[in-house]
Amino acid sequence: MGPLPPNSTIGLVGGGQLGRMSALAAARLGYKCHILTRETDSPAAQVSDSVTISDYTDPVSLRAFAAAVDVISFEFENVSAEGLDLLSSLKPVRPAPSVLRISQDREAEKSFLNQAGVATAPWIIVETLAELEAAVARLGLPAVLKTTRLGYDGKGQAMLRTPADLAPAFERLAPRPLILEGFVDFACEISVVIGRGADGTMAAFDTVENRHRNHILDITLAPARITEAVDQAAQTIARDIASALDLVGLLAVEMFVDKDGRVLANEIAPRPHNSGHWTIDACPMSQFELHIRTIAGLPLPPAVRHSDAVMKNLVGPDEAALWPEILATPGLIPHHYGKTEARPGRKIGHATRLFPKGALPGEFGVTAALGILG
Ligand code: AMP
Repeated sequence: MGPLPPNSTIGLVGGGQLGRMSALAAARLGYKCHILTRETDSPAAQVSDSVTISDYTDPVSLRAFAAAVDVISFEFENVSAEGLDLLSSLKPVRPAPSVLRISQDREAEKSFLNQAGVATAPWIIVETLAELEAAVARLGLPAVLKTTRLGYDGKGQAMLRTPADLAPAFERLAPRPLILEGFVDFACEISVVIGRGADGTMAAFDTVENRHRNHILDITLAPARITEAVDQAAQTIARDIASALDLVGLLAVEMFVDKDGRVLANEIAPRPHNSGHWTIDACPMSQFELHIRTIAGLPLPPAVRHSDAVMKNLVGPDEAALWPEILATPGLIPHHYGKTEARPGRKIGHATRLFPKGALPGEFGVTAALGILG
């Protein structure tokens, strides 16, 4: 497939904020977007040319969606295997269904990463409570028990601290099998967003540092305050994974840096990522533009950064209520996702603060820079 000409239509599966920001980037490159989503009035459809409202399994809707578009990509990756096969029989699907299948399942993901030579926390798949007890005997406590599928933002996982935690966590988490991971006593969490084209060209953004609150990303610092060696290791891991997947599209790799400076991959997501939102304001080409460029077969210039940045997520009703103050704070760049309801735990927007390159402040400066959000 040659470069997609302007005015072509990109089909995006999923109607959330990642689709919204991808569609805005697509519009700037002259493309239309058609969204497939279950929701009416979704953040992505609000800024797109057209929408199909359906679940992700109905073959009639999937066919109608594919017929309306020139290429298909995702902001939501948990489409059924049958749905993916149907879509890819009708139009180019980028990233390929094989990539999505790996990222949909923590067992497939961790096996793939380890086979590609990428280190992870130690892990064991468990089907029964007896297997969980045996796995804990091997990995020790604390440990983290997770569903293998459909987990996000800390949903579908439990921290196991004492033997008494095992049975309740095992009963609560579904569907099975579950995956037990050794607990990583990390110094920090980092991520790299990388794009790869069909010809193997890659463009990776600088490594960033991520801080979570209640299992949800709270703040991203760009660049990460890490050593050169850790940075190199993280960038190499991202490139190795993108190559091993034969990726055409965008990929985020979330990693832990342990207390000895070892970098362990935690999770991969073959789509734009919350930890890449800072690129909209701090880079000439954002992660969303890079996403669109990779799937449209456009040139991939290096993913350079002109500023340092702090990105703060706005989550739930309390932070939604701060919107007027955010708008009134000089230097805070506001991004609202157009959601009508700010339920607890829901991301309703983010705000970015830029600094001259090399001038990312230290701990107190970050808090001060966020003003009302600090
Ligand atoms: P995940 O859903 O795998 O991205 O996990 C969400 C968050 O839980 C991570 O960003 C970490 O803060 C924490 N976490 C997950 N797995 C582990 C682990 N094996 N060791 C320590 N913390 C973890």
